[in-house]
Amino acid sequence: MKGRRKFLKKSLLSTSLLLPIASHTKPIFREYPAGVKPMILSTWNHGMPANDKAWQVLSETGNIVDAVEEGVKVTEIDLDNLSVGLQGLPDREGIVTLDASIMKGTGECGSVAFVRQVKHPITLARKVMENTPHVMLAGEGARQFAIKEGIPLEEEVLSRKAEKAYQEWKKKANYQPIINIENHDTIGMIGIDAEGKMAGSCTTSGLAYKMHGRVGDSPIIGAGLYVDDEVGAATATGLGEAVIRICGAFLIVELMRQGWTPQEACEEAVRRMIQKHPDIADIQAGFLAINKEGEHGAYAVQPGFNYAKHSTNEKILIDAKSSFK
Ligand code: ASP
Repeated sequence: MKGRRKFLKKSLLSTSLLLPIASHTKPIFREYPAGVKPMILSTWNHGMPANDKAWQVLSETGNIVDAVEEGVKVTEIDLDNLSVGLQGLPDREGIVTLDASIMKGTGECGSVAFVRQVKHPITLARKVMENTPHVMLAGEGARQFAIKEGIPLEEEVLSRKAEKAYQEWKKKANYQPIINIENHDTIGMIGIDAEGKMAGSCTTSGLAYKMHGRVGDSPIIGAGLYVDDEVGAATATGLGEAVIRICGAFLIVELMRQGWTPQEACEEAVRRMIQKHPDIADIQAGFLAINKEGEHGAYAVQPGFNYAKHSTNEKILIDAKSSFK
């Protein structure tokens, strides 16, 4: 009896392997518009100057990885930006910790998380990708790696704006990490070159006044960023915890693999997020995606999310649609 049960289990298993997987998804094959490559897309309006730089680098070198690294470096040193780079808002202990990731459409990727004193975490993430056998380095290890790579560490002082905001927060916040629909503006950049090669980058100082040690979605490959030359790329901004729970960027790329448009895939990711978060009214998150044909889309939970698009015939800021109106 035992043997028969085992046999039945085994044969059911092998039969199921032969059966087509039930699909509730869109058809795989559809018509694509042609001629929309190259293109660079970035989250939020700080994406405009970042895209300018990325576009310049892409035009000069044709290297899409250089383009997405150099592009977001502009935001990492933008003193007006309080959510990317060392001038960003600190954690609740008053310490700025940074997260960043970079990925090529070939699957090569690197990231750093919870790193301090590094002016360009995106460059450090690229060095993890290119100079180590690993994908992710965190905290003190990432900082030591920066030193080893000859990257000078910055003095650990808050920017004037961040210091002022932190002191205000301390007066009224009761040491509680805040989760709301403001306080986030990660730059996620995804790009495609004229031949269809893709890359993406994502960099942030994370959620303002987070617990010390908290890591968001931005350095998590598949959450804040995912790129696959066979399909497309996606990046996320907003509350990292919510993005991680649905593997946001990977989900979008996989939906596109099944034939969903970038717009449809971003909307589905938001729908899943809403489904899993009863407190969704307090959450903002947005997604941005491109497929290998150069079609793109974006969608957010709350209104207010926008993204920058640079292509051969336009450089524009586009308001994304959102679930809440
Ligand atoms: N996604 C970032 C995080 O959760 C926040 C942001 O978009 O600024 O760390």
